[in-house]
Amino acid sequence: MLEDKNKERTSLEKMGEFGLIDHLTQQFTIQNKSTVKGVGDDAAVLDFKNKKMVLSTDLLVESVHFDLSYMPLKHLGYKAVMVNLSDIYAMNAKATQVTVSIAISNRFPLEALEELYAGIQLACKTYGVDMIGGDTTSSKTGMLISVTALGEIEENKITYRSGAKENDLLVVTGDLGGAYMGLQVLEREKEVFKVNPNNQPDLEPYSYIVERQLKPEARKDIVELLGKLEVLPTSMIDISDGLSSEILHLCKNSEVGCALYENKIPLDPTVISSCEEFKMDSTMIALSGGEDYELLFTIDQSDFPKIKGNPSLTVIGHITNKSNGANLVTRAESLIPLTAQGWNSFQDS
Ligand code: ADP
Ligand code: MG
Repeated sequence: MLEDKNKERTSLEKMGEFGLIDHLTQQFTIQNKSTVKGVGDDAAVLDFKNKKMVLSTDLLVESVHFDLSYMPLKHLGYKAVMVNLSDIYAMNAKATQVTVSIAISNRFPLEALEELYAGIQLACKTYGVDMIGGDTTSSKTGMLISVTALGEIEENKITYRSGAKENDLLVVTGDLGGAYMGLQVLEREKEVFKVNPNNQPDLEPYSYIVERQLKPEARKDIVELLGKLEVLPTSMIDISDGLSSEILHLCKNSEVGCALYENKIPLDPTVISSCEEFKMDSTMIALSGGEDYELLFTIDQSDFPKIKGNPSLTVIGHITNKSNGANLVTRAESLIPLTAQGWNSFQDS
């Protein structure tokens, strides 16, 4: 049945659960010493020796977290792994394994799942992570995909959200707001397509931000860079919901305040131009956009010379006493309290 190259849609019913799992997982190879047994038994077996293990899970639901009308399944598989690896890197750990669980309806042929797993496999290969198991079940409505990521780290290198202290510098990687603006472009094209299916959208001018939405990359490189620079952040978090809410998490968990400088927030030129086009405020988008999967961390001031001038790292502010609160210092130098949605424009301090 699988050998029939003329058949483009192989129904899942014909395959059986075990045949399906075998088929989807056979291309994966094991890359980490800590993986003793991966897929194929009742449970995977891992050995982290003297390291600590970190673990994080995410559940992605169709129509809530992703829209298959513009999200190719290969990208979905890749992104589902990325969002989890990002959490592992935010602990300063090395990501080593993932499990992947899916619920699917029979509207998906085998070929669709092959696409999904091709994305998962590419992510695993690129990031040096082993796919060690999962679960497969049916769904009557949409698709669900849940990834659990595991990582390893020496105990004294773990970066919690709770370690920021007064006068630490607040640092962000890459640039912000791209994933959200990419989504705006894709949503607009979807509406245009509904009206005129023959319309071929020119996404070229938006390629950077569309890619930020469809193919995010977790910052494995930053964890490696910080290791090389011998910088141990005092606290760290990944930016999945937007800069503002992540800063508030750090401040709350560390019991500190902060000053974030609006003019320091790193923005790609495509984000600035698309914000102008969509009549959106780029600061607001960076603060509340989300899905950029960059890292936000704090360092002791004495570490500043080590990171100074690095194009991947931008100092965007500093940590203050809790009593000062978490504030945005605007270009006009006024202080505005940060809120999870960005800032509270009705409240002035
Ligand atoms: P059980 O019935 O004990 O849950 P399964 O038949 O579901 O066992 O799983 C058999 C093996 O295949 C296990 O190693 C499991 O982790 C793996 N597996 C099941 N579903 C998936 C999936 N969607 N992706 C990757 N591995 C899977
Ligand atoms: Mg199972």
